[in-house]
Amino acid sequence: MSNYNEMWRAMGLNMQAHDQLLRALPPTYHDVYLTQPSRPRGMEYFDFVVNEIHGLRIQELQEHKKSGGKVIGAFCVFVPEEIVRAAGGICIGLCSGIDIGTAEAEKVLPRNICPLIKSFMGFKLAKVCPYFESCDMVVGETTCDGKKKAFEILNDYVPVHIMETPHMKKERDRALWLQEVNDFARLVEEFTGCDIKGPELAKAIQEVNGKRRALRRLAELRKNDPAPISGKDSLLIEQIAMYDDVVRFTNKVNELCDELEGKVKNGEGVFPRKTPRVIVTGTPMAIPNWKVPHIIETSGAVIVAEELCTGLRYFENEVAEGDGNIEAMLRNIADRYLGINCAVFTPNPGRMEKLVQLVREYNADGVVHCTLSFCDPYAVEANRVEKVLKKENIPLLKIETGYDQEDTGQLKTRIEAFIEMLG
Ligand code: SF4
Ligand code: SF4
Repeated sequence: MSNYNEMWRAMGLNMQAHDQLLRALPPTYHDVYLTQPSRPRGMEYFDFVVNEIHGLRIQELQEHKKSGGKVIGAFCVFVPEEIVRAAGGICIGLCSGIDIGTAEAEKVLPRNICPLIKSFMGFKLAKVCPYFESCDMVVGETTCDGKKKAFEILNDYVPVHIMETPHMKKERDRALWLQEVNDFARLVEEFTGCDIKGPELAKAIQEVNGKRRALRRLAELRKNDPAPISGKDSLLIEQIAMYDDVVRFTNKVNELCDELEGKVKNGEGVFPRKTPRVIVTGTPMAIPNWKVPHIIETSGAVIVAEELCTGLRYFENEVAEGDGNIEAMLRNIADRYLGINCAVFTPNPGRMEKLVQLVREYNADGVVHCTLSFCDPYAVEANRVEKVLKKENIPLLKIETGYDQEDTGQLKTRIEAFIEMLG
């Protein structure tokens, strides 16, 4: 990576803590990613993005800000990126996939809280994340209680706007969510000083749909046996989707898919044919949380799909496109986002139906349900998942884990036994 010290210092990063973080990433990335055999050539771009994780993209964000643009951060796939783009802003998903600034975070949060929440608070308080420090505003949501209350505290350190995400999908919830989306559009206009116009909103919808389409194309290719790309590489791409430039990212995913189509035609894959196929579901796996996928794919199985927000939930539905006016477009946006099957909804039958459908479509042999410690919505909903999968005779392994590596050995033993049973 080039020398970005001056930029990081000017952004107010804690240089010592930031250096430590940057030193920790390359060895992990090497062990988890660069040791994989037969990786597609198209992964070079995504390796480059990781190599430049706090460099080039941050430079782009800083240049955007210098020219008067705004950067808006989000922690949830419910935040409509299209609206931010239509107002000339950049929307980035903030990661929170690593234990960082824990001591700082525990000064304001209880110890027993989900690691994702602790991580985002730690990132902010320890001042180690240049993405966070680039944000002019963060958009939170009322999905789970822990996040909802943590956003109140976060607001002491960065402006936070909260979108009220409903917990049911009745007509009145749809009306509430549509109102929230409309309010968000007005707020973004005020914040950026830029009125959202019909053509810009239509273009933003098309571009973000283009990203979703490219990711779906990649997902479709993973239905083949042998799998043309590993689950770990696919997850990495899905994680990078949250913060990379939308158009460039879409092109790179499509280029990769061109290459993978050739591999599929030639019967080439990254694992031998008939390798046990697994679907991962549960709480999102934010970058650089690769622990469980790495264990699965070094224990004799391949991950063929992620029913996660860093996975299919992020790109499976599109916003309807058409010639509608702004009001109609915002309604289409609201409809699309309310289709996400997050465990905070009650009841949440869509997620169970989707899982069974995915197992059939991707010809999966089993499902690994992975919950972050202290994540009540997914930990409790695992019971519903178990019930439905049992009825369909689909093998399931339930895991609860955090960001630390202490349980790696124990997880490996359980995952190996599960895969052996699948095989
Ligand atoms: S799991 Fe729910 S709260 Fe978390 S990112 Fe997904 S939609 Fe948002
Ligand atoms: S992982 Fe679970 S507890 Fe943590 S923020 Fe997401 S929904 Fe909330």
